[in-house]
Amino acid sequence: MGITSVLTSAAGRLEGKVALITGGASGIGEATAKLFTRHGARVMIADIQDDKGRALCESLGSAVASYVHCDVTDESHVRDAVDAAVSRHGKLDIMFNNAGIAGSLCMQIRESEKADFERVMGINLVGSYLGTKHAARVMIPARRGSIVMTGSVASAAPGIGSAAYTCSKPAVVGLMRSAAVELGQFGVRVNCVSPYGVATPLATTSFGIGVEEVEEFMHKHAILKGVRLKVEDVAEAVLFLGSEEARYVSGVNLLVDGGFTTTNPSHGAWFV
Ligand code: NAD
Repeated sequence: MGITSVLTSAAGRLEGKVALITGGASGIGEATAKLFTRHGARVMIADIQDDKGRALCESLGSAVASYVHCDVTDESHVRDAVDAAVSRHGKLDIMFNNAGIAGSLCMQIRESEKADFERVMGINLVGSYLGTKHAARVMIPARRGSIVMTGSVASAAPGIGSAAYTCSKPAVVGLMRSAAVELGQFGVRVNCVSPYGVATPLATTSFGIGVEEVEEFMHKHAILKGVRLKVEDVAEAVLFLGSEEARYVSGVNLLVDGGFTTTNPSHGAWFV
């Protein structure tokens, strides 16, 4: 096999697959859409940032990428987005429930707002629930599919985000586990990818600092040194979970955190 054919076969890990990506206009979702199309998938990007989502699809090419306005808290939007993917491409192989917000960075529960708590749970948890529900509706008759949800290091360790965020992400893992058990009999796999801090608009806006400063802050507090987590690293994990390489992987919360949640990060100081 020549080098060109090696590269071609290595590049086509999602050849012929159709993916719906919520929160696909920015950050982790955007990087995943780019990586998926590079690997031969056709993607539908579902987001509320219409201009950004449409511009991304234009840059990827209308043959492989299309945009649908979708607020993941609205069941009719999620239902229509799933149906749009199926009517355009004939099927849905991968559902990436990725849309999420950090909400208020208020770390004092006594000063937090109920409306913020409900908003975070509505987008992060209820949005993932609706995406799972409607993906299951079309994947069960097909007897195949891969549902991936974006958790967070907050799914495994408290104190990193607000109470709302810290409730939402382990709940997403609970949803993933429940769906993995229920949908396995239909050949549908369900997993989570849970990243450490990565400098997307979610992080820069929440902290009110730039990309470089977010990366420096995250690196300083990381267990794994000498490498900075990028959105592309998270997208690679999603690619694995969505692909046939992971055909027997289900019910897993894949932490992309450089070991951050395996220990109390302050213990890292013992080894220097
Ligand atoms: P981002 O802000 O770049 O992207 C999030 C996308 O979700 C945006 O395009 C936004 O418009 C969209 N979105 C927000 N509310 C929506 C709604 N109601 N309906 C549809 N789309 C909506 O941030 P990101 O960091 O790429 O976030 C993606 C996921 O990654 C989130 O679930 C987040 O919790 C998770 N995450 C992020 C980090 C991090 O440090 N950036 C770490 C762990 C987990």
